[in-house]
Amino acid sequence: MKAIVFIGIQGCGKGTQAKLLSEFSGYQHINIGDLLRRQVAAASELGMKVQSIISRGELVPDEVVFEIVSGSLEPGARGIIFDGFPRTREQAEYLIEHYDVIRVYNLELSKQEAISRISARRICQSCGHNFNIISLKPKISGICDACGGELITRPDDTPASIENRINEFYEQTYNLIQFFETKQLLKNVSADQTIEEIFAQLKADYSSM
Ligand code: AMP
Repeated sequence: MKAIVFIGIQGCGKGTQAKLLSEFSGYQHINIGDLLRRQVAAASELGMKVQSIISRGELVPDEVVFEIVSGSLEPGARGIIFDGFPRTREQAEYLIEHYDVIRVYNLELSKQEAISRISARRICQSCGHNFNIISLKPKISGICDACGGELITRPDDTPASIENRINEFYEQTYNLIQFFETKQLLKNVSADQTIEEIFAQLKADYSSM
């Protein structure tokens, strides 16, 4: 199964770009954070297990992530876009072993800009759709465009959790840039551009593959 991967610091816009590329390519979009939040909202056994880990901004165990990844594949999918996976070296090894990775997009953004974007992030309480009160505003303030649900700040977007996640990114995920570069899969894209500008680059790259 072909796979395209998005990596980047929190707030770099990988969820937005992954969704756009999924619509363009017909690949299934898998966002691990969203899938985990759904488990928490449903109070499933797995959700209960990971709730406090997520709220502290720590990484959930690799085995849990592998279970989510393998269990979320839609039959007949022509490819997958992973967003928020892999985040550790073990996850990267798992990915390479199980999927035919054709590209890894690294959306580059400074730490300072990432923090300011996270604080402007809002999420729909009902359907999980993402917004940003600066760069991706809903049509009606506080209301989800997709389902009319109420927009809230993500429960794990607290200063302590944001700091943990950013540290986690530099300690674990950042090293994957080198890992994928060595495998000649990496494409660096500046995330300090508009959504349309970034997507135009991704679309051109995808179409050339
Ligand atoms: P995100 O929506 O990508 O910011 O992810 C929210 C939270 O889900 C993270 O802070 C982690 O606790 C957990 N999470 C998401 N993706 C992963 C992953 N690949 N490995 C471990 N934990 C993850």
